[in-house]
Amino acid sequence: MRPEALFDYFADVERLPGIGKRNRVALERLLGTRLVDLLLHLPTGLVDRRYRPKINDAVPGGIVTLEVTVDEHVASLNRRMPYRVHCHDESGELTLVFFNPRADWLVRQLPVGEQRIISGKLEEYQGKAQITHPDYMVSKDNADEMPDLETVYPLTAGLSGKILRKATQAAVDIVPDLPEWLDGPLIKRDKLPAFVEALRAVHSPTSIEDIAPSSLARRRLACDELLATQLALAIVRERTRRKRGRSLMGDGTICERLFNALPYTLTGDQQTALREIVADLKSEKAMLRLMQGDVGSGKTIVALAAICAAVEAGVQTALLAPTEILAHQHLDTIAPLAEKTGLKIALLTGRNKGKPRAALLEALANGEIDLLIGTHAIIQQDVHFKDLGFAIIDEQHRFGVQQRLALAAKADHGVDVLGMTATPIPRTLTLTAYGDMDVSLIREKPPGRKPVDTRVVALDRLADVAAGIGRAVKAGARAYWVCPLVEESELLDLAAAEERYGTLKHMFGDHVGLVHGKMKGADKDAAMAKFQSGEITILVSTTVIEVGVNVPEATIMVIEHAERFGLSQLHQLRGRVGRSDQKSSCLLQRANEKGEVARKRLKIMRETDDGFVIAEEDLRLRGGGEVLGTKQSGLPEFKLVDFAEHADLIELARDDARMIVAKDPELTGKRGQALRHLLYLFERDEGVRLMQSG
Ligand code: ADP
Ligand code: MG
Repeated sequence: MRPEALFDYFADVERLPGIGKRNRVALERLLGTRLVDLLLHLPTGLVDRRYRPKINDAVPGGIVTLEVTVDEHVASLNRRMPYRVHCHDESGELTLVFFNPRADWLVRQLPVGEQRIISGKLEEYQGKAQITHPDYMVSKDNADEMPDLETVYPLTAGLSGKILRKATQAAVDIVPDLPEWLDGPLIKRDKLPAFVEALRAVHSPTSIEDIAPSSLARRRLACDELLATQLALAIVRERTRRKRGRSLMGDGTICERLFNALPYTLTGDQQTALREIVADLKSEKAMLRLMQGDVGSGKTIVALAAICAAVEAGVQTALLAPTEILAHQHLDTIAPLAEKTGLKIALLTGRNKGKPRAALLEALANGEIDLLIGTHAIIQQDVHFKDLGFAIIDEQHRFGVQQRLALAAKADHGVDVLGMTATPIPRTLTLTAYGDMDVSLIREKPPGRKPVDTRVVALDRLADVAAGIGRAVKAGARAYWVCPLVEESELLDLAAAEERYGTLKHMFGDHVGLVHGKMKGADKDAAMAKFQSGEITILVSTTVIEVGVNVPEATIMVIEHAERFGLSQLHQLRGRVGRSDQKSSCLLQRANEKGEVARKRLKIMRETDDGFVIAEEDLRLRGGGEVLGTKQSGLPEFKLVDFAEHADLIELARDDARMIVAKDPELTGKRGQALRHLLYLFERDEGVRLMQSG
């Protein structure tokens, strides 16, 4: 149950002044329709109307507030000519300019001979002072309708800044104080204001410093958001590890057979990761570890070695993949090695039905299967292991916490859980996404990889690129051609994968194939299989191929509208090629008109293939705002944290969260009760739900 004190925070914006049906719709689209949505939507700028010079002293280019007398209205003669109103003060003259105004309204607003206070951006036009569409035109009597300082909120398309401002102000006044959830010493040390005070300060700033990320109010709010996230993670961690784990220790025989079957030896990073994982298996505590490593860094073989170690210890294992393609691919990679090591494996996806599925489930329940590879199908209720001891979740950010827990619930003992991710994220952010897990990092690539030759080309050279691909394919190459996602909401000028498929098929005939996210699993797999076998040589796709797909013969990657992708995403896509001893290339097609940042970002892609460097640069270039594609990276969304300014708070929040959960796992103490408010406010309340479900 949501704490009562939060009632007003979650009330509908409809009760705020100025928010009727239409504005509510706009708000719904932009931020949400509860007071808390407005409150956590911070201003990014401040308009200062306190500059009140005489007309002739005023410096053009910025906001000014002028006290003038209205002299004359000059209506527009035709539609291209603006409507003008001439005014003056004792120092000089000012023209107010309006395009397509309602003349009768203007005449009422600006009666000739009367004084008005005018505020807006001052321009100089043919040597004369003018203001186009002033922000305010008020009489002296109504001077207080115009605030000295005005906050500017982002994302106000379809909604006027004035309305958003007014509603937010009202919201700040309505919501009650909340019990303090931050640690006393921290608040005292940094002199942080209380939560509601901080909200007031950022929504009613007295200077631009008040809304800067370095302000005490912003720091306070960043603490809150980080702590909410870390606390939710810590609660999940505590729940996952609550069941008593087991010490899983093997005799090394299966692992030895595996290593003998491999044509190479593990890299140093792979060995370190494996050691860390095996140590966790041996420990009595349930493992909760993340193996992070770039595409092609060799995570799969480390995972398989860990599986062998667990099977030696007599338990069953599971490998969970986010898509059918990936599950199949894991099966293909693992099957030959499993045969040599004597590991009994099976595949379970949504496509197993009827009798074969029943037989598979029976074998699983009887303990005849050592390793079950599969998709979400593995976590279905009726799937029972005889003794699940170790589970690996590939691309773990694609799975929710609930799914992780559902998997763990398939055993009486604590299941050791190893997540894997190929999405490198900046070091500073690892904690925010995976604060609940221990991390093993594989940075070193297996030897002998050739860097992918990466080039940026203009989108209008599409025909040249296609011709080049055609020649390469004739000579035996295989190419991926990636288009931005097809979605109703996307702009029409984007080359839809289907359309591109049509053009390329027209040029090159039946050797062109298509995969996209809306296709059925079986059709997707069929297309991939044809690409793998070489029946298809140019595979047009949306980003469905992004994760993990392995076709070593593919050596060309074309990415249309590369500027629309996050760098990490581009990096993953590029990782699909360069998987053999052949030379590979990647062509990033960029729309011509895109700006400086797009240019810089694509330049980074050309200069490095270190995923971690790319992730750091992406963060630096895009700043604290839109940090990577949050969905891609598995990062929770942050509204209040600026990762450049508040980086030092991340670890603090993590440590605090773990301490809280260690001391008061049910959040029933005084601080615990206060913290429940925090979890709900930031909608990290899955943590609370977990506590209720026991
Ligand atoms: P990831 O899962 O991290 O993307 P993979 O496990 O698919 O990477 O490894 C990519 C390729 O590198 C595979 O073909 C694998 O056989 C090979 N490989 C893995 N480790 C090594 C190694 N130590 N030396 C040489 N090749 C390796
Ligand atoms: Mg263990």
